[in-house]
Amino acid sequence: MSKAVCILGATGSIGRNCLAVIARLGSLFTVTAVAARTNAELLVEAARSCGASRISLADCASLDKVAGDRLKGLEVGCGQEAIVELAGLDEVDIVVNALVGAAGLAPSVAALKAGKRLALANKESLVMAGAYLMRLAAEREGAEIIPIDSEHSALFQLIRSQPAKSLKKVIITASGGPFRGCGQERLQKVTFSESLNHPTWSMGPKITVDSATLANKGLEVIEAHFLFGLGYEHIEVLVHPQSIVHGMAVFNDGSVLGHMGVPDMRIPIQYALTYPERLPNDIKAPDFNSLGKLTFEAVDEKNFPCLSLAYEAGRRGGAATAVYNAANESAVEDFSKGRIGFTQIPVIIERTLAAAPQVENPSLGEIMEADNWAREFAKGLKI
Ligand code: MG
Repeated sequence: MSKAVCILGATGSIGRNCLAVIARLGSLFTVTAVAARTNAELLVEAARSCGASRISLADCASLDKVAGDRLKGLEVGCGQEAIVELAGLDEVDIVVNALVGAAGLAPSVAALKAGKRLALANKESLVMAGAYLMRLAAEREGAEIIPIDSEHSALFQLIRSQPAKSLKKVIITASGGPFRGCGQERLQKVTFSESLNHPTWSMGPKITVDSATLANKGLEVIEAHFLFGLGYEHIEVLVHPQSIVHGMAVFNDGSVLGHMGVPDMRIPIQYALTYPERLPNDIKAPDFNSLGKLTFEAVDEKNFPCLSLAYEAGRRGGAATAVYNAANESAVEDFSKGRIGFTQIPVIIERTLAAAPQVENPSLGEIMEADNWAREFAKGLKI
């Protein structure tokens, strides 16, 4: 029987790849609902192409830009609540959450509360409220989180087949981003458009900037901590510029299992949809003859401090990871508008974390409070 899928963030890079994966898989999946933040035209187009009957747009005003007859036959909602509603729809089996940033948290909560499979690309959900979401996934019947993030999909596949006690640590790989090897002098002059030029992955603007600062890897370390229940001392990051090895699991007998594949998000998207099955597609395995070599190097923590700040936030625990995420989102927005420089992003995160009150075992409300506080504080910083 066909599984019903709801795609949140359907107009972005993950959303469009997800639509392509589902189209390729034929009758196995049906898209019943799609949502996006602001791009109404593209969202309607996406709904038409996949046959979804419900759409929700976060930004109500954007809907006015679409001619009324284009919406004919569609059930249309707008505002954050309308997106949350789609995530909990009775007829939906799988919620793909590919929203950007903190806006993804409420729909993740709704999907798990309603007992859905949450195919999660919105890593910010876990960074903000990992303990809460993992508890929901464990307690609610039918609820589960299958990561779409490529490194976590890799680790998920590597770890599952092995006795938990035998795992010593995991290694998350990082391409190093477009400024790998650059020193302070160069980094201080980096522009927003330069930072959008990722060497191996094609992704949306926010995550691409995060990849350039290594904040994305920081978010992924926190994501791995919650997803796999690992202490931060058991999660390492290694720079691997070719992005062929996505993750490695190191075991107590000296064995290391690695997961490889070309850098193509359709692979982890498909796996999150079809798990535990692995189905064929037209994506080729890496051609090792032409690749020649795979290289690895240590992270340059001095010039890319966003990673160690994430470890610091993670070790502090409580609401600190939500503060890290909010300060980073705020700083990236300021950077994209030309208000601050590239090297000021980690400074804003560091100062916000240093000033943040510690909140242990935060409720969802306290997490949102910490998020709001951090955004306000980060915006008000004079640097
Ligand atoms: Mg990733």
